[in-house]
Amino acid sequence: MLQSQLLIKTLKSAPADEPSANAQLLVRGGFIYKNSAGIYTYLPLGWRVLQKISDIVREEMNAIGGVELFMPALVEKKYLEATDRWKVEIGYKIATNNQKLKTDNFVLGWTHEEVITAIAKKYISSYKDLPVAVYQIQTKFRNEPRAKSGLLRGREFLMKDLYSFHADEKDLFSYYEKVKKAYFKIFSRCGLKTYLTLAGGGYFTISNTHEFQVLAPVGEDTIIYCKKCKYAENIEISKLNEGDDCPKCASSLAKSNAIEVGNIFPLGTKYSEAFDLEYQTKSGEKKLVVMGSYGIGISRLMAAIVEVYHDEYGIIWPKEVAPFRAHLIGLETQNQKLRTTAEKLYKDLQKSGIEVLYDDRGDKTPGEKFADADLIGIPYRIVVSDKTLKYHSAELKLRSAKMTKLIRIRHLPQFLKSKIKNQKSK
Ligand code: ATP
Ligand code: MG
Repeated sequence: MLQSQLLIKTLKSAPADEPSANAQLLVRGGFIYKNSAGIYTYLPLGWRVLQKISDIVREEMNAIGGVELFMPALVEKKYLEATDRWKVEIGYKIATNNQKLKTDNFVLGWTHEEVITAIAKKYISSYKDLPVAVYQIQTKFRNEPRAKSGLLRGREFLMKDLYSFHADEKDLFSYYEKVKKAYFKIFSRCGLKTYLTLAGGGYFTISNTHEFQVLAPVGEDTIIYCKKCKYAENIEISKLNEGDDCPKCASSLAKSNAIEVGNIFPLGTKYSEAFDLEYQTKSGEKKLVVMGSYGIGISRLMAAIVEVYHDEYGIIWPKEVAPFRAHLIGLETQNQKLRTTAEKLYKDLQKSGIEVLYDDRGDKTPGEKFADADLIGIPYRIVVSDKTLKYHSAELKLRSAKMTKLIRIRHLPQFLKSKIKNQKSK
């Protein structure tokens, strides 16, 4: 993609009302645009990152038998009334016909347990229909009293929600373990180390729930965790204190702020009871379906990655979620020969299947181009200049390292391709 056509312009100064690193860097780097408090546009660069994250989530959900669907964002009152959640204040309630209706009859979906259970009632009737798991990646709306810290807590945000349906608790908990593993994989592919944290029961669950927490000073949660065996509890339910012995391995426990990037709930039969979702067993008995629900904050995940991966100059995207793998920078592009060489290299990189952003802008100084590259944070920077052309080469640098390396231009696409391939298979 040509940088001159990206729509974005990087900004020198950061928004004054948004102190968190993710808000500062994502806004300055042209990844997001703040429309209102807690409401953002994902600009082309930011949208690419979200797509990368979504693709990882899809791959791992599909790998555990999840099937993707897409539910409406407008949720009728009757659904939430069935579980007594219409009264929950987090929803933006609306009247679909303002002229005639005096009261609100819809809410902008802030969660979809009720909607999916009503759908499941139509299609699940026998043990043969179970187990089944469906998920969606969709915008959720929440009237958060404290919309803050950029994408970490939005009023409108992207979530992946998975719902599973089982014949009994044993089957639910065996699937629950699979989801745990898939979540660890997703977060680790996003470059993040997560702690699986024991958390409270929440609204309608049969037991404790679990959260996936990323250690970060900006995080709103506090967790007590063991550095050695990774055992962790959310302080909200925990009787443990910093310095206590770990209940699993007896090492000393630590305490930290953390960002909840995902959570998983064994729901039991609360929703199937409310919607009368039953199935017939092999012996002809009627039983309630047992359910689980599992969320990941896709846009919060993007913010968490930036909170962990940045330095004083900008973002340092982990490879799998970077908007592009390579950032090609043409210096002195007013020189025709150099321009032609850089353009050819751009095409050759693309032909080799490397996603590349080409800084073709003619009105920027080298210093401005380097500063932008550091801010945007694409893993490989490739510079073509008068100096490098003397050696028929381009200069290659990792965003995460200081060292540069000259590589023959004609070898570069193949060289990068092999690097990226190795990274993917790891
Ligand atoms: P939190 O405790 O942070 O308020 P939650 O426990 O209400 O979140 P869920 O309703 O289970 O979260 O939502 C699933 C996931 O969606 C969360 O783990 C989080 O990653 C993300 N999420 C929740 N609320 C927001 C928000 N306001 N902005 C961005 N992401 C959010
Ligand atoms: Mg929570």
